[in-house]
Amino acid sequence: MAIPYGRQWLDEDDERAVLDTLRSDYLTQGPKIAEFEQALCDYTGARHCVVVASGTAALHLAVAALALPAGSEGITSANTFTASANSMAYCGIKPVFADIDPISYNIDPASIAARITPATRLLTPVHFAGQPAEMTAIAALAREHGLKVIEDAAHAIGSRYRDGSPVGNCRHSDATIFSFHPVKTLTTGEGGAVMTNDEALYRRMLLLRSHGITKDPALLTQNPGPWYYEMHGLGWHYRMTDMQAALGLSQLKKLDRFAARRRGIVARYNRLLAGLPWLRTPVEADGVTSCFHLYVPCIDFAALGLTRAEAMQRLLAQGIGSQVHYIPVHTQPWYRETYGYGPGDCPVAEAYYAQCLSLPLYPALTDDEVATVAAAVRSLG
Ligand SMILES: *Cc1c(COP(=O)(O)O)cnc(C)c1O
Repeated sequence: MAIPYGRQWLDEDDERAVLDTLRSDYLTQGPKIAEFEQALCDYTGARHCVVVASGTAALHLAVAALALPAGSEGITSANTFTASANSMAYCGIKPVFADIDPISYNIDPASIAARITPATRLLTPVHFAGQPAEMTAIAALAREHGLKVIEDAAHAIGSRYRDGSPVGNCRHSDATIFSFHPVKTLTTGEGGAVMTNDEALYRRMLLLRSHGITKDPALLTQNPGPWYYEMHGLGWHYRMTDMQAALGLSQLKKLDRFAARRRGIVARYNRLLAGLPWLRTPVEADGVTSCFHLYVPCIDFAALGLTRAEAMQRLLAQGIGSQVHYIPVHTQPWYRETYGYGPGDCPVAEAYYAQCLSLPLYPALTDDEVATVAAAVRSLG
């Protein structure tokens, strides 16, 4: 495809960083892991970081480390990737879906409030498309009801909250997760991270990242020799490789440049697509600075006289990729069968889903390509 909907940007220095590590003594967890974790702490301002094999592993680890009681419920956005909710289901927590705000497409705090029950223990807001969710209101609800908060910031490394501070600092949450999949705003191939300011949570996540096994002399119940280790919890193998961490370190140095370019492309699209009666350009909430993982206009396909599949096909015929983010998670067959959810549960997210179409957005996209995409979209009408 000439212009995909998303792709990574890798330079020679990224290649060199990976190659240097490949030629070093460490392939899996070595010195680059700790370096990348420290760099993520420095970038976000959070105290602790655990890097892992994927954003999904990061979510699972964070939820598991909270050790919430069986029968708990957690609330997340209907407009997200399935992993936000699956991370709760993995841990025996019932995922409950809140509806979204019709302007930001982010989780609506009023809908969260309406879905809190005595069993609710966890809120997992998602910073959709890179735009921070309403964390002040969400943190207030969490305080009022004694809930834990995990921010799913898979889209939002490089974004800033309304107070100007970086997403990932965990000022409003117990933990924040990132994904480093190639379409996200920073990549390690596959990878993820959990940020937290909670020392105990950090220790539990470190343990669970690697089978629940420790060799820390301070934690062992006995210490008969250098071979000895103990398993203190039922963990997983969620480690990141040193090659991936080296790539992440190299990419992190460019993140602010990537963010500026993404914002520039979004501003350009917004200008080029203004004034179409059948298309609504995305709106950035006052004060926030989104790193914009996705560019999602909403299109009234009925007014256009085209189905979305036909519109996507017409763009594809011109070499332009597009995608849909997201099919509301509560309408997925597994969620219907397992929890009895279905259409009508989150009407705003469902109405949004009928109209959303993600257009190409990545830092390497040129101004000419942006103009080509915008012209192709305009010509749908
Ligand atoms: C990509 C994504 C994830 C999962 O990240 P992976 O690295 O692909 O496991 C979780 N939540 C959201 C909102 C995502 O977009």
